[in-house]
Amino acid sequence: MFDDKRGKKVVLVAHCILNQNAKIDRCAHYPGAMREVVQTLVEAGVGFVQMPCPELMIMGLDRQVDRAAVTTIEAEDTRVGWRMAAEAGQDRCRRMAGDLVFQIEQYLKNGFEVVGVLGINGSPTCGVEVSWFDDREQPDAGVFVRLLREALAARGLDVPIRGVKAYEPAQSVAVVQALLDRPLQT
Ligand code: SF4
Repeated sequence: MFDDKRGKKVVLVAHCILNQNAKIDRCAHYPGAMREVVQTLVEAGVGFVQMPCPELMIMGLDRQVDRAAVTTIEAEDTRVGWRMAAEAGQDRCRRMAGDLVFQIEQYLKNGFEVVGVLGINGSPTCGVEVSWFDDREQPDAGVFVRLLREALAARGLDVPIRGVKAYEPAQSVAVVQALLDRPLQT
């Protein structure tokens, strides 16, 4: 089965790795996809599972900003972080994480390799090694990644999750390359 041209390797990517148009206002760094990261994965023959953008799904594209207010990006990230961490935000994130875990299990069950999950460091929602909360960078995961980790652990799945940053393309490519070079877990 599946004996065709597919490479049987997939990576789950934060929505905005493929589509910067989903970013919070003033935070996009590319017109479309994060070019270097995406090119590296395309050249490695990996298929993309684009995760939903939790902030867009819960708060909308404009994150329900007060358009009349003068705010900083940091203050907006804090406001968004609080909304995402509220019960309704977590409930929706948990459902999205559950759907992704279902997809991961399907690939693994059918003998595919799940190279990993790529989140966005510094995000209150998709941060992996660092996120944003209460007006400062925090050395832990954002709300969506934390719940995705919990959902994976609940199913006994060990899938690496790493963070990249759109404004650090060289470091981000190195993170991706390390995932690609990682020995296959059996
Ligand atoms: S980091 Fe996550 S929440 Fe923020 S724009 Fe990207 S996908 Fe959406």
